[in-house]
Amino acid sequence: MDSMQCRIISIGDELLIGDTTNTNARWMGQVLTEAGVEVRHIATVKDDLDVIKREITDSLSTADLVLTTGGLGPTHDDITKQAVAEVFDTRLIVHEPTLDFVKSTLQKRNIPFSESNYKQAEVPACSQVLFNSRGTAPGMWIEKDGTRLVVLPGVPAEMKHLMREKVLPKIRKQMDRGEVRKSRYLLTSGIGESTLSDEVIGDVGPLLDEDLTLAYLPSPWGTRLRVSSSASSQEQWLKKTTPLIDHIYSRADKLIVGEGKNLSLAQVVGDKLKERKLTISAAESCTGGAITSAITDIPGSSAYFTGGVIAYANRIKQQLGVPQASLDTHGAVSKAVALQMARGVAQKLNTDIGISTTGIAGPGGGSPDKPVGTVWIGFWSPEQHFALKATLTKVRLRNKKRTTAIALEVVRRVLINFPRMPYNLKKQRP
Ligand code: ATP
Ligand code: MG
Repeated sequence: MDSMQCRIISIGDELLIGDTTNTNARWMGQVLTEAGVEVRHIATVKDDLDVIKREITDSLSTADLVLTTGGLGPTHDDITKQAVAEVFDTRLIVHEPTLDFVKSTLQKRNIPFSESNYKQAEVPACSQVLFNSRGTAPGMWIEKDGTRLVVLPGVPAEMKHLMREKVLPKIRKQMDRGEVRKSRYLLTSGIGESTLSDEVIGDVGPLLDEDLTLAYLPSPWGTRLRVSSSASSQEQWLKKTTPLIDHIYSRADKLIVGEGKNLSLAQVVGDKLKERKLTISAAESCTGGAITSAITDIPGSSAYFTGGVIAYANRIKQQLGVPQASLDTHGAVSKAVALQMARGVAQKLNTDIGISTTGIAGPGGGSPDKPVGTVWIGFWSPEQHFALKATLTKVRLRNKKRTTAIALEVVRRVLINFPRMPYNLKKQRP
């Protein structure tokens, strides 16, 4: 088989009305993709016999593999097994090992065995039972006419356990070539997605094929690039992807922060500060502590981060050493104040580097010469100091995030000697 095409069906009213986040489908999508299965479709349906039956029937007619989660419990709204039995025109029978397990589990917990517990041990007669040692609802594997239906409990821990122990090994065995789909993630920062793709990386069409893809994924820290391909071995994978990855590195060079699906800018900045044995502090107005929070999200940040001051009111900015005259002449959102805040925090907290933010986060508070989204970011160290102006959006929380990312990116660029500052900012010397 070339590739296995799969559909996932999430069953449960709680998923539709927003009570429960469908983490099952997301996790299954991830592990199935890693296993080389092509996930084509994810559906969420309510606890309704006809709806479930129709979704399973449709899915089986178009996919090689269909997985469901949810609706296996003993209560009246759990009807997945009934639906499966009707789809396969079979009856429900009691699976004795499961019944014994349910009985002994209840006994251990001093819960009396009731009629409805029989339901827990029932499975459609045509199923192979996937014994569930983590709960009372077993999983089921049903194969017919070259397609497979896998029925799993909704409880995430039980579903994951059965996937790992029973389902994925079976799938792997059934895929002749053992192909795996893998991705490599490269984080860039301080450059817009379209500038990155149009002007920096350029047309990579000739380097791609049907299977080898490049995706631009936005993240609060910048644009993440995902290079994806399937291959039968690690060597094969490297052989296929290396030309594209080399091309990206040669073009984007220092714009690439590092690699990893979850890599954050704060992690990279932290590593560089540690390497250079430098310390940093932050004076934050419009980011309200977001920089401090991002830096301290990283374990071990105490090695380079000493503290921060949330200098929201002018009075606190003054206590950092910003003169009244600066505030009067230039306003709180200005180059002069950003610089004085950065220097003030570095000196008062005795660190090698001070960074600062002051801006109009919005949605109100703008003026013609300082529209909403106007932000100043200050950098101060004994060797160099400068402030950058950014013109961001009208959306308050987005502005806080972007300002945080820009401030961290400014620090990264200073530390790696990359003089080009984030692209839409003007570097202004005092
Ligand atoms: P059990 O036999 O243990 O009752 P079940 O198969 O009947 O399991 P449900 O009753 O549908 O499963 O759901 C059990 C729990 O799992 C609920 O708390 C539900 O919110 C959660 N759950 C169900 N489906 C999902 C999903 N797709 N993603 C995350 N959580 C889920
Ligand atoms: Mg349910």
